[in-house]
Amino acid sequence: MQIFYPGDAGYDEERSGFQTGLRHEPQVIFAVETARDVEEALRYAGNHGHEYAVQATGHGLTTPTTGVLISTRRMNEVRIDPATRTARAEAGAVWQQVVEKAAEHGLAPLSGDASDVGVVGYTLGGGFSVLAREFGLASDRVRTTEKTGDVVTALEFELLPVTEVHAGEMFFEARYAEAVFEAFHGWDLPDHVTPALTTLGDVVRVTFASTKPFDVGHLRVAPVLKEEFGVKPFARAAGRPLPPHTYQGDNVLLADLPLEALHRARETAGRSSTEIFLGLLPLGGALGTGATHLLKLISPRLGVEEQHEEVFDQVRSSVVGRSRNFRYAVG
Ligand SMILES: Cc1cc2nc3c(=O)[nH]c(=O)nc-3n(C[C@H](O)[C@H](O)[C@H](O)COP(=O)(O)OP(=O)(O)OC[C@H]3O[C@@H](n4cnc5c(N)ncnc54)[C@H](O)[C@@H]3O)c2cc1C
Repeated sequence: MQIFYPGDAGYDEERSGFQTGLRHEPQVIFAVETARDVEEALRYAGNHGHEYAVQATGHGLTTPTTGVLISTRRMNEVRIDPATRTARAEAGAVWQQVVEKAAEHGLAPLSGDASDVGVVGYTLGGGFSVLAREFGLASDRVRTTEKTGDVVTALEFELLPVTEVHAGEMFFEARYAEAVFEAFHGWDLPDHVTPALTTLGDVVRVTFASTKPFDVGHLRVAPVLKEEFGVKPFARAAGRPLPPHTYQGDNVLLADLPLEALHRARETAGRSSTEIFLGLLPLGGALGTGATHLLKLISPRLGVEEQHEEVFDQVRSSVVGRSRNFRYAVG
């Protein structure tokens, strides 16, 4: 195990992650490789009265620590057991490793839309996969959690016999957002289909996936800028890594989402003083969250909590909680 102090070569590299707007400011970094190293890091934090944080990729950094940082990226073994259809992933493993190894056995995990997200952080937050409405949360599939204190050192979880999915995406110009949002909101969704709607500046993007065929014709309510939809290997629906960047974001879980409230949220985000990308995940199906939708906001800069709250105000009366995932650079 390597240990880094401020000023050491490698200290900055080790504390840096996907989030470039914010970094941990630790007094010491334990770059752990084994459960025993994690134990040592925790003992050090305890003996010195320091708080500690864990970082695998930095995708989900909320509050930086000034105490001990336990960096798990080197502790990243992934093993697949095709006989029991399970995977065991160590603390620092990312989804791409599991997706690739599982595919060799005709299996797939309940991973999300970015393959470089950490398996453990994602699953501890529930884990909304690209097949979430069909198969439920990733956390529902956990068989064994190996822990040292509160730090998860490895997870063993079920894989699904999925090799191919029906999946795709459609892009529309933002000026057609109202019609697209209405069609998306009115979609009589089969339980096996998992869609998502996202505004991305000048465009609105709709994505969808399922292991079974389904129809998206009713979404073509405006000229489609770009569309692709077909049967593809699961890995192609499991998302490509994005380059590291600065972003702040939060989300709310909703008990219902009337169309007027959705339009108000979209309009408020659209005329905000900061750029806000709005994402909508319909829940239900196999997801036992008790919520009907997850509304998430993300901006390519920090210090935008107030503007995000103005958007959340438009759906406030329906808010029943927050997902631990989709919270970025917020305390
Ligand atoms: C581009 C992008 C796409 C995403 N797509 C999805 C998606 O499709 N579905 C979804 O559900 N979420 C998604 N997320 C959210 C993501 O799952 C969370 O941000 C998650 O926390 C990231 O985990 P990480 O290990 O990669 O990040 P890190 O920042 O390294 O860790 C995040 C937090 O997880 C906890 N943690 C990590 N490892 C451990 C451990 N070993 N023991 C204890 N606690 C630990 C810590 O609290 C840590 O602060 C996405 C995020 C981004 C940025």
